Amino acid sequence: MTYRKNTTVAEVVTLMRRHKLADVADRVAMCSCGRWFKEPGQFSAHLIDEVQEQLTTPHPRGPAVTDELLAEVAAIHRSAPEGDKMRKIAEFLGVSPSSAGTYVSRARKSGLLEPRESAAA
Ligand SMILES: [Zn+2]
Repeated sequence: MTYRKNTTVAEVVTLMRRHKLADVADRVAMCSCGRWFKEPGQFSAHLIDEVQEQLTTPHPRGPAVTDELLAEVAAIHRSAPEGDKMRKIAEFLGVSPSSAGTYVSRARKSGLLEPRESAAA
């Protein structure tokens, strides 16, 4: 198995949030993604499979946009020095600097970041 170089902790954390034990009835465990399992071990195996898939499948479009992720992007944007912001954000997201710009504008639209001042990047 080959791991992707650019997998970020944020991606894995976002993924894990999508797979929670939603319900247990008659000893059948239901995952929040809709799958169900008759043995506790099957649920654990399902979580591991989902994470392994995330770690090994290329995601050229970057991690899914969530409020939590945009908040992280905004925090990095605020703390990183001028001129180094996009590189830091791209590194965090595991995407190219130009894709990182898309996340920054999404964060601005969500009001998590102030609107761009003049031409400062
Ligand atoms: Zn699931």
